[in-house]
Amino acid sequence: MRLLPPEGALSGFGRPGAAEAGNGTPSPSASDQDVEIGEEIRKRGFRRWYERQLIEGHAYLVTAFLALILLLAGYEAMGVLRGSPLYHVAVVGASGAAGMLMWVSWRRFIALLARAELFANSAACPGCKAWGKFDVLAADSAGADEPPEAARPNWVLVRCRKCNERWRLG
Ligand SMILES: [Zn+2]
Repeated sequence: MRLLPPEGALSGFGRPGAAEAGNGTPSPSASDQDVEIGEEIRKRGFRRWYERQLIEGHAYLVTAFLALILLLAGYEAMGVLRGSPLYHVAVVGASGAAGMLMWVSWRRFIALLARAELFANSAACPGCKAWGKFDVLAADSAGADEPPEAARPNWVLVRCRKCNERWRLG
């Protein structure tokens, strides 16, 4: 009888077991993401999703370009402050911020466009050649905290609406 409390305590360790049982189905965070990109493609269609990716990607390109202009204009403007100790502080701070913004935006532009191209290149059904006419079955799981430049999910499992052929984008 005295063994019962430890056993009860052990059953507290049943949580990992429960988690294991849950592994049969996708974890909530993964399926949320799957649904997200799947829903997006389902609602808008692949063509619209693809266009949006290009627009979003180019918005990052424009941001990167503006940051570069800001950086260069900032250097010009700070010539006025040259010689004062404030000059060095201002230069380091402003160029650091603009440079970081430029770098992050540039990486997002590259990542989003690369994925959009990758998906678009394999969006034609291997069976009937219909382009972008499919339902999303599953997608690479992606963490909610992953930045856009991670370009996740980087693959999507789809099924043709016309001939039911299955294949993978990405
Ligand atoms: Zn097909």
